[in-house]
Amino acid sequence: MLHKNLGINENNHLTFCGYDTVELAKEYGTPVYVMDEDLIRENCRIYKTALERNFGKGSMPLYASKAFSCKKIYEIAKDEGLGCDVVSGGELYIAYKSGFDMNNVFFHGNNKTEKDIEFAMNCKLGYFVVDNNEELTEINKQAGERNIKQKILLRITPGIDPHTHKAIVTGSVDSKFGSAIETGQAMAIVKHALSFSNVELCGLHCHIGSQIFECEPFTDAAEIMIKFIKQIKDETGYETKILNLGGGMGVRYIEEDPIIDYGKNIDTIAEKIKAYASNNGITMPTILMEPGRSLVAAAGITLYTVGSVKEIPGFKKYVSIDGGMPDNPRYALYQSIYTCFLANKAGDKADYTCTVAGRCCESGDLIAENTKIANPVRGDILSVLCTGAYNYSMASNYNKLPRPPVVMVSKNKKYIAVAKESYEDLIRNDL
Ligand SMILES: *Cc1c(COP(=O)(O)O)cnc(C)c1O
Repeated sequence: MLHKNLGINENNHLTFCGYDTVELAKEYGTPVYVMDEDLIRENCRIYKTALERNFGKGSMPLYASKAFSCKKIYEIAKDEGLGCDVVSGGELYIAYKSGFDMNNVFFHGNNKTEKDIEFAMNCKLGYFVVDNNEELTEINKQAGERNIKQKILLRITPGIDPHTHKAIVTGSVDSKFGSAIETGQAMAIVKHALSFSNVELCGLHCHIGSQIFECEPFTDAAEIMIKFIKQIKDETGYETKILNLGGGMGVRYIEEDPIIDYGKNIDTIAEKIKAYASNNGITMPTILMEPGRSLVAAAGITLYTVGSVKEIPGFKKYVSIDGGMPDNPRYALYQSIYTCFLANKAGDKADYTCTVAGRCCESGDLIAENTKIANPVRGDILSVLCTGAYNYSMASNYNKLPRPPVVMVSKNKKYIAVAKESYEDLIRNDL
């Protein structure tokens, strides 16, 4: 099976974290997101222990909460001793409401508004990860009005292309994020930050992309960042205290993807970083990482019910489900590949090649093309695997489909973490 929390039981049904998924579909209706709390916690611990083992206390993972954001997940991250990163006032609000320690919250984004900054300061946000000069100036101004010294990191673009899909590559020079070292803009913003009296520059951040399976892109980025830290020290005397290496470790969406040992990867990356730091004669900064996908993706599946099965002779076969791009827009957005599975025929030979289509009035509303599943009929339960990241968090109400509920399961309990939207919810803001 794709992940260790999946299995097949005596009824030929797909199991997830030990639960019969056909029973879950019956109990909660479809579509439904199901999340494995045990696996989320296990992944949090792998990152946390690996970072502490290699870099000591203070070094910790920050959960990149845009991957999956609801009150419960912030509670879990907090409980496991993680910090978190947020990319909007909305995410910050949910973290705040869930009781997250604001000292360990990092606020990202390439265009924070005056209101975002004000709201974050009202919440006593720990760190802004400052993207640009305008934002830096505004943060300094608002901090000055409050008579505080706001802690910040600067987002730096190391110029690494991790060879993933173009739309999610963010570390190369022409990125909309951060300031590039290569163009001199990174050094300029460092000096700018050091010149302000109401911001405290605590360190640097980079995020090179997503769905990265190898260690090299991270060690390459770290090497560039360490050299830059040395250059900053030489030119200004400033010693960088925190180096945040971002997120981006890959997850296994299909059988062809490798299985990744995140702890071992961190060990490998750590060894190189320490060597770079010592070679450059700089004090090791506190290392932070921001995993999103790798904490929650494999901990989620989506269950749907099959409706129509349409065979167009000489062309294709469409299997339509009762959800689609509103609950998982990733195929429509950038052709992300998923593994589909008939949960009630889990052990049957998967030799029916088809396009899995959503129910929206949009030809591009597809979940998978040329995917192989068991022979489908109306009423079957179709599961899409590895949907814990960037599905619920990207969901919309397009075609006015209410968003599915999120059900959390673990060995000894199951509960609804996010309720299903109702038709009334769809008009709650309509005047
Ligand atoms: C998206 C993002 C992450 C998380 O990326 P994953 O691929 O989900 O691990 C971390 N940091 C920043 C700044 C991001 O934009």
